Amino acid sequence: MKRILVLGGGFAGVECCLKLESYFGINSEIEITLVSEDNFILFTPMLPQVASGTIETRHIVTPIRTLIKKIKFYEGKIKYVDPHGKSVALYGTNENRGMLIHYDFLVVALGSKTNFFGMKNVEENSYQMSTINDAILLRNRIIDLLEQAENETDPILRKALLRIVIVGGGFAGVETAGELNDFISDVSEYYPSISENDVKVTLIEATTEILNGFPQKLANFAKEKLVERGINVILDAGVTSFDGKEVLLKSSSKSNKVLLSDSSQQKGHSRLVEINSISSRTLVWTAGVTPIDLVKESLFRTHKGRILVNEYLQVPQFPEVFAIGDCSTFDPALSMKPFPPTAQIAEAHAKIAANNLKELVCGGKMTKFDYSWKGQSAIIGKRTGIASFFGINISGFLAYLLWRNLYLSKIRSSDKKFRVWLDWTLDLFFKRDISRLKIIKKDPPRDYKELDEVDDVW
Ligand SMILES: Cc1cc2nc3c(=O)[nH]c(=O)nc-3n(C[C@H](O)[C@H](O)[C@H](O)COP(=O)(O)OP(=O)(O)OC[C@H]3O[C@@H](n4cnc5c(N)ncnc54)[C@H](O)[C@@H]3O)c2cc1C
Repeated sequence: MKRILVLGGGFAGVECCLKLESYFGINSEIEITLVSEDNFILFTPMLPQVASGTIETRHIVTPIRTLIKKIKFYEGKIKYVDPHGKSVALYGTNENRGMLIHYDFLVVALGSKTNFFGMKNVEENSYQMSTINDAILLRNRIIDLLEQAENETDPILRKALLRIVIVGGGFAGVETAGELNDFISDVSEYYPSISENDVKVTLIEATTEILNGFPQKLANFAKEKLVERGINVILDAGVTSFDGKEVLLKSSSKSNKVLLSDSSQQKGHSRLVEINSISSRTLVWTAGVTPIDLVKESLFRTHKGRILVNEYLQVPQFPEVFAIGDCSTFDPALSMKPFPPTAQIAEAHAKIAANNLKELVCGGKMTKFDYSWKGQSAIIGKRTGIASFFGINISGFLAYLLWRNLYLSKIRSSDKKFRVWLDWTLDLFFKRDISRLKIIKKDPPRDYKELDEVDDVW
C-alpha cells in the first residue's frame, strides 16, 4: 500500500486530488488522503461580491466531500510537517485528539496568507479579504459604519466613519473598492442623512499603476472608471501605520509627496492636494500575500518563504514531496519563467504534480512544468470590466460579461454555478439587503498531544 497525502483544499490541492483520483481511483494499492482546515473549497475571485452582498455567502464555497469520491478527507489544521519522519501532525480540537498521519508521497498546497510586511498595528486594526470570514466581517462592518454615521452628530467622526480605505491595487483591492462603492451608493436611500458625497472610498497603491500585469491601456481604463465613480485612487504611496483611526502614508517616489486628486469641492473639477494621512476607521488590506508560517518555518528550503521546487515541482531534498500553488516557487537557479500567484497557475501546477506523482509511483518519466499564460480579467464595479486574452484587450460591459461567464464556468459544482447565476440575476431586480449579522469569531488554536494514526493509545 502506498500512501499519498495532499495538504490544502484550495485550488491546487483539490485539483491535484481530482487528478489523482482519476489516475488511481480503482487501485486498491494506493491510498489518497486530503487534509484541509476548512471542509470546502473557496472561490476567491468572487469574495468581493460576497462582501457587497451581490452573491450569497455559501454560494462561493463548495464542500470538498461533494467533489472527491474515493479520497479520505480530514478537516483539520496542520501543526507541522516532518519530511524526515514522513509524517504530518494535525492539531486536536475540544472533541478530537491531535493526529499524526504517515505518508509515502506528499503534496504541499497550503496557499498563502495576507502579507502585512511586519506592520503590527496595520495587521491588528485592518480588515482583510482572503477568507470567507473576511468577506462576512467586512460586509458587517460597512453596514455598521452606515448605521453609526446616519445618527452621528459629531461631523469629524462622521466623516472618518464614512472614509473607507482599501490598500493594494491588485485584483482583490480594485474589485473590493468597486463592489463596496456600488453597495454604498445602492443602499444610500435607506440612510437619508448620508449623501453620496459624504462617503469616500479610497484605493491606495504603492506603485505607479493599479492592476499591474494588465496591459497599460486596460489598467488606465480601470483607473479612470474608478475615479469617475467617485473613488479616490492614490498611487505611489505606501501605508506605514494604521492605529484604527488614522492611516499614515509615505510616498514611494523621489518627490516624497503623496498626491490626491481631490474632486470633492466641485463635481467634475479636481485639484491635486498633498496629503500625509487619512482619517478613517476602516482599512481593508489587500496588498500582497506571503506563505503561512508553517511553510516558512518548515524543514524545506524556501525563497521568500515559498518552498523551492525543481522543474517537476518536486522538493529536491525530499523527492517524494511536491509543493504547488501559492506556497511554492521555482528555484531561481533554474531560470524558469516567473508566474504570479494565481488560481490559474495553482491548478496548472496541480495537474503536472498529479501526473508526476503517478509516474513516480509507476516508475515512468516525469513532465517538466510549462505554461502558456491564457490571459486575465477583472471587474471594476457597475457592470464594467477589463479583460486581456491571447493579446486581445476588451473593456467595459463586454469584458464584464466575459469575466462572469469565465468565472462561472470555473466554479466546481453545477448547483453553486446556478445559485451564483441566480444571485446575479436577482440583483438586477431587487434591492440590496442591509441586515447586519453578528460577527463570527474564530477560536485560536490550542495545543493537544497528537495520536499516531497507526497507534490506538495516547
Ligand atoms: C480576493 C481575491 C481575489 C482573487 N482573484 C483572483 C482571480 O481573479 N484570478 C486568479 O487566478 N486568482 C485570484 N486570486 C488568487 C487565488 O485565490 C490564489 O492564487 C489561489 O487561491 C492559490 O491557490 P492555492 O491552492 O495555492 O491556495 P489556496 O486556494 O489559498 O488554498 C490553500 C488551502 O490550504 C488550507 N490551509 C492553509 N493553512 C492550513 C493549515 N495550517 N492546515 C490545514 N489547511 C490549511 C486552506 O484552508 C486552503 O484550503 C484571488 C485571491 C483573492 C484573495
